[in-house]
Amino acid sequence: MIRTATLTGVQDDENPYTIQTPPRTEYKDLNASVKLPVVTMDAVDTYMAPLCVKLEDKAKNLYKERFLIYVRSAAKNNKYHLLAPCATNMKKSVSYCVDVIVDNEGVIDECQCECAVGTGPNAHC
Ligand SMILES: [Zn+2]
Repeated sequence: MIRTATLTGVQDDENPYTIQTPPRTEYKDLNASVKLPVVTMDAVDTYMAPLCVKLEDKAKNLYKERFLIYVRSAAKNNKYHLLAPCATNMKKSVSYCVDVIVDNEGVIDECQCECAVGTGPNAHC
């Protein structure tokens, strides 16, 4: 049986653009005891530059206005996997799960979002 990465953390063989994530059961809540690499704004700009996009104030405001529901993380093979459901800016009752993979230097490797335009590994919706 083939399942989607969103539900199981296993790569979906039918969608080669789905990034590989650990099983959701391996993720832990983000709190002061969880060690993560620092991801700088330069790292965000570096990730987005080849995609010809920049982090806009609109996206920053979504964070400030609490559209980010929570963040969980899992470490695997020297990579840090972040899982973050985010409410949509149109309907706050609807949320999409965002996956971000960061290396141990804080470089963003891959991102995906389960929204219609958030296909991995280079999502920037
Ligand atoms: Zn999205």
